[in-house]
Amino acid sequence: MATCDSCGTLLEMVRTGDSVEHRCPDCDPGSATETSYEGAVDADVEAAGVRSGDAPAGAGRFFPFEDTRPGQARFLSDVRDTLKSGDVLVAQVPTGVGKTAGVLSPALEVAARSGSTVFFLTSKQSQHKVAVETLSLTEQVSGTDIVVSDMISKKAMCPRPESEQLGARAFGEFCSKAMAQGTCDYYETDEESVFRELARDIHHVEDAVELSEREHVCPYKALTEVARVADVVVLDYNHFFSDLVTTTMDRFQMDLSDAILVVDEAHNLPDRIRSHLTWRLTPGLLGEASDEARTHGAHPLARFLDRLADLVQRHDGQEEQKLEPEALLDPIDELLEKAFRLAQPDLHELLDELHDVAEVVRKEEAVSACGEVTEFLERWPGKRDLDEDAVLRMWEPEATAFTFKVLDAGRLAGPILSQVQGAVLMSGTLYPMGMYAGILGVPNDRARLERYQNPFPEENRKVAIDPGVSSKATERGPQMYRRIASTIQDVAKATPGNVAAFFPSYKMMSNVETKLGRSSRRRLVEQRSFDKEERESLVNRLERADGNALMLGVQGGSLSEGYDFEADGENLLKSVLVVGVPYAPPTTEVESLQSFFDERFGDGKGWQYGYLAPAIQRTLQAAGRAVRAAHHEAFVGLLDRRFSQRQIQSWLPPDVNPHVEQDLPAAAERFFS
Ligand code: SF4
Repeated sequence: MATCDSCGTLLEMVRTGDSVEHRCPDCDPGSATETSYEGAVDADVEAAGVRSGDAPAGAGRFFPFEDTRPGQARFLSDVRDTLKSGDVLVAQVPTGVGKTAGVLSPALEVAARSGSTVFFLTSKQSQHKVAVETLSLTEQVSGTDIVVSDMISKKAMCPRPESEQLGARAFGEFCSKAMAQGTCDYYETDEESVFRELARDIHHVEDAVELSEREHVCPYKALTEVARVADVVVLDYNHFFSDLVTTTMDRFQMDLSDAILVVDEAHNLPDRIRSHLTWRLTPGLLGEASDEARTHGAHPLARFLDRLADLVQRHDGQEEQKLEPEALLDPIDELLEKAFRLAQPDLHELLDELHDVAEVVRKEEAVSACGEVTEFLERWPGKRDLDEDAVLRMWEPEATAFTFKVLDAGRLAGPILSQVQGAVLMSGTLYPMGMYAGILGVPNDRARLERYQNPFPEENRKVAIDPGVSSKATERGPQMYRRIASTIQDVAKATPGNVAAFFPSYKMMSNVETKLGRSSRRRLVEQRSFDKEERESLVNRLERADGNALMLGVQGGSLSEGYDFEADGENLLKSVLVVGVPYAPPTTEVESLQSFFDERFGDGKGWQYGYLAPAIQRTLQAAGRAVRAAHHEAFVGLLDRRFSQRQIQSWLPPDVNPHVEQDLPAAAERFFS
């Protein structure tokens, strides 16, 4: 599993437009898992005001605001009932309902009564801040001490210079060795005083790290101590929805049955879990494993690993394809014969040898490449308890790897959600809730599915479908690109502010861009090669464009999902145009996922769950860039006649409510006038 070189967090594979990227959910604010919470506390305060007297009726003693918002009172009450009865709430909670306070207040109530701990799981560091600020406000207003441990990865918190100099794996080894040998001064320093301060006052992780560093204490050690007595622990998904869960629970000295889980932006969870349940055999990993074997005197094993690395490397240039187990097992047999000659082991004996080397390596280092090769080769042939439809073996050219993937996210999430005291999975786009509950393996007898009212006034937003265009492959061509370009320009003319258009691929974006005529609007275009700084620079230029910019980007990309286009409380985008239905290209993984869903949930579900729903998710995310607060006004154009088809409309949350408009620019003009 690939990890971030900078912070060690598991990387996720994100499909942006027509390409696939590996991104770190912690380091890259433009990752597809960036969410819409920036400024949420301010928005809450602005809309409702912090209360000075009693909480609104039914909101509970931890609710920090004067009033509840539309939809929020029911959300609070559902969270409370669900957690009290030990169930799992799968909730579509539109932006603006006030999810963070809405979920934390009743969760704290239930936890206080049952003596359990609330785990607020987020995929982004920026969301940590929102949760921590909400909890600080809650503590002030309720007058109750709340102990919070806000944690990110060990590497990202480590004050030692090596944490920046070393890659994730090397840092893990360095840290384990330093702890075991007692050579880390920070770890050896008594953390008691820092622990007391962190347990007394709520600190954001940055402040906790600063305090620990000042006192020469390991922040990870201090925050782990705090987590053991905390009311709320703020963490990344990975600590629960991965094989780290046992370690996490051991470290915090608790059982899953003591945990109340809140999973924020839960629509990302199935992809995050599938990314986690992916193992790759690459020439680089095999090279490292060979070095380990040679260092520990296992020369035939080292020879075998070198040859296997050559074999993987020789596949470079081949197209992506699904494989049967034999595609790798047969050549492995031949390589074993060549490397071990007379003493040729079978696969089980090979795994034993690899395992032995890994055990020796792990006595000195945190991770072992031989261990990772063992994990891959153990999985590749398949397991009796794992349905063949639920796995994918493939050659993955982008990673130069043989890849083994578990497609069934519920296999990991289901048992965890069955064991915790209660859980809330929430997101503004977690729709349809039943599909997410099924994919994540939420036990039927514990699932509660709810959708909440959109609190934004309908008159402030218009969603319109343009039936005159389509991104369908059979309709693409210069004429269609010209028509789309002309619609974008005319909507821009009718819009008193910035406009964004999001495309299904970089290629289509470029084709349409060449057809755009001259305009006084500043054109800002997302590039496939953009890194974090370049994306931020583009957003800054949009902010400085004085409402006179046209921004072009791709759906499923950083701009269409990762940023809240808001400045000084106002929305930076007055019109957002979603060009085409962003169906994913029919890759090996997409097709395998569809077959798995057909098999698991019934014929036809594969297309809906594996193809249609992700496209709708991307559409909603892109469209959602326009309106971030109740007073924002925005026009959203869906530029594809297929959006008016019943099969698509029935998958849109009811509050989207799009209307077909023969003349989209005229509709925009009417809306803004
Ligand atoms: S023990 Fe703490 S301070 Fe020391 S290297 Fe590990 S994370 Fe860094």
